[in-house]
Amino acid sequence: MRPDLLNPLFASLTSLTGVGPKLAKLYARLLDVEAPRIVDLLFHLPSGTIDRRARPKLNEVVPGTLITVAVTVGKHRPSPPHRSRAPYRVYTSDDTGDLTLTFFNARQDYLEKLLPEGELRYVSGTAELYDGTLQMVHPDRVVDEAGFASLPLVEPVYPLTEGLALGNVRRAMDSALAKLPELPEWQDAAWASQQRFPQFTAALNSLHRPAEPRDVLPETLAWTRLAYDELLAGQLALALLRAHMRRQSGRGSSSEGIVRTRIVEALPYSLTASQAQALNDIITDLALPQRMLRLLQGDVGSGKTVVALLAAATVIEAGRQAAFMAPTELLARQHHNTILPLAQTAGLRVAILTGRERGRERADTLARLAIGDIDLIVGTHALFQEEVAFKDLALAIVDEQHRFGVHQRLALTQKGDAVDVLVLTATPIPRTLVLTFFGDMDISELREKPPGRLPIDTRTIDLARVTEVEDAVGRALDEGQRAYWVCPLVEDSEKIDLAAAEARFKELKGRFGDLVDLVHGRMKGAEKDRAMERFAAGETRLLVATTVIEVGVDVPEATIMVVEHAERFGLAQLHQLRGRIGRGTGRSTCLLLYKSPLGDTAKARLSILRETEDGFRIAEEDLRLRGEGDLLGTRQSGLPGFRIARAEVHGKFLGAARDDAGLILNRDPGLATPRGEALRHLLYLFEKDEAIRLIRAG
Ligand code: ADP
Ligand code: MG
Repeated sequence: MRPDLLNPLFASLTSLTGVGPKLAKLYARLLDVEAPRIVDLLFHLPSGTIDRRARPKLNEVVPGTLITVAVTVGKHRPSPPHRSRAPYRVYTSDDTGDLTLTFFNARQDYLEKLLPEGELRYVSGTAELYDGTLQMVHPDRVVDEAGFASLPLVEPVYPLTEGLALGNVRRAMDSALAKLPELPEWQDAAWASQQRFPQFTAALNSLHRPAEPRDVLPETLAWTRLAYDELLAGQLALALLRAHMRRQSGRGSSSEGIVRTRIVEALPYSLTASQAQALNDIITDLALPQRMLRLLQGDVGSGKTVVALLAAATVIEAGRQAAFMAPTELLARQHHNTILPLAQTAGLRVAILTGRERGRERADTLARLAIGDIDLIVGTHALFQEEVAFKDLALAIVDEQHRFGVHQRLALTQKGDAVDVLVLTATPIPRTLVLTFFGDMDISELREKPPGRLPIDTRTIDLARVTEVEDAVGRALDEGQRAYWVCPLVEDSEKIDLAAAEARFKELKGRFGDLVDLVHGRMKGAEKDRAMERFAAGETRLLVATTVIEVGVDVPEATIMVVEHAERFGLAQLHQLRGRIGRGTGRSTCLLLYKSPLGDTAKARLSILRETEDGFRIAEEDLRLRGEGDLLGTRQSGLPGFRIARAEVHGKFLGAARDDAGLILNRDPGLATPRGEALRHLLYLFEKDEAIRLIRAG
């Protein structure tokens, strides 16, 4: 299916001369792909340059700088035979001064060939003053007149990985560039010329073969062109997905709302205005014969779960089924526990399905689901599995979406006929990011918190004062309060992570005894649940945890959150953690322990948390401070899932890319015109071929 033209780019990197299996492994690490191909290397863009353009006369050389000089080679002074560790020197000069070239462990015959006495040579490297004479130790380049004509004076520098030298990457890149075919232009001609975009191939060439250092900056037209290509490919794929989902329409689920009313009446509170509004949006969507694709954004604790349940009740009353999917087992159980009593008062049949349900029980659940004996199933990604079949799935509710991929969303919605989708996210996401990740979805926001919540007292404290913090926690425990103590992620390693949490647990247990419990990501599902249940029931009152509690855990009685090494957490993550408290009516305190000295960003992050609890504002600040990648906790920099586009530089093109994608599919839904054909190349290049299969046939 892949256009033939692209085949050379999708050949393995090992097909390049000089790249064997050993280097291929290093490239796999560098490029973060299992079996790197030529296209992966080509998209590895330079991080800077080496600039050899300074061409001083010898009397103008600034010691310590990189220069290229034209010199006449004078006498060689080889190291004496009995002292081979003494340097080999070659004396050179121009009409203004002298330069000594110094080599260690050099071979005389090689150097005599490279630097023949009496000839002119161009020498590039860093010169230093040594004993009052100008020296260059191991010049980077020595070339003659002809060699100089083709010597790149500005050389690209690439991010590397251990064992891989810059020279390797440059040579491989040269061969890779040689494989680049001329590709049809997929960008709209008017747009490309208005933006002064170079062609795709020209853009890659100019980035990998810069004439000036500024040629490799993300702001260049070349980089921007490639970034726009990447954004357009992404938006086009999302638009295809959306078109595909909208196409299978024709079933509205409407109901009088009897079941909904019963649930609402059973609630110990009334819905907030924004919950009611969101619910209204959803009910309207559900009744329409088009597919719903709606994102329900709301800060932690804003009450998304009950809105989701009422949405489910709507389709169930219409005689259909709903699935509620959570990212972790813990959350799935918690949702199930919250939902069960409410659902039962309304006569709904609810079941749970995770990796832990096995044997008879599982078989029974699957059977009942298939014949429509279960109205609402709550679960984890286990719900995607092939053996899971519904009688008539009408609504898929996906909690904390950013942990799932588009693939998975598609998998769940294919378990029914024109399934409506409601995505819940607790990280308020700026509009641009919504577009990037979810495509063009409708959005409902829960901006107000349920009433009666007191503001959380947030303080930052030097980790050196941890004993005082323990004392304070001890006093709170004496008063019957409940507290979380979160230990940080260290070096992305669960093992080390755990060691830190276990050490803290031991220590706190030594002080407070059986009131203290531990929960971490390596515990078995059932153990984890029991630990959470004991905490929820108040049997334990101080819960030491790794970040497993980050998402969604709900114990309204918890009033204290201690975060150790808060400086290691992202802003969004800290906000999520803090959201675990302040859910009940008690006054809550969040203690952010940091290790000093704090960097500027960490300082700014912590002070934003002290200032505000507004998740939308925090998300915006986070975006400003760290770029969009980290907002979702996915990567250190850049847009997650993007190799070329940078949020801060190219983010502004997202809207254009989205409009562009919409326009393209409006005019040419089958990508059948010449431009459509060209766009198929684009989709393949950026590995959106998944989406190509969704193109409407004919
Ligand atoms: P989210 O999933 O948005 O983080 P939850 O749905 O877990 O929030 O709700 C947080 C808490 O607020 C729950 O204990 C829930 O019972 C409670 N709650 C939800 N809606 C309201 C409301 N309108 N008034 C009072 N409490 C509410
Ligand atoms: Mg929730």
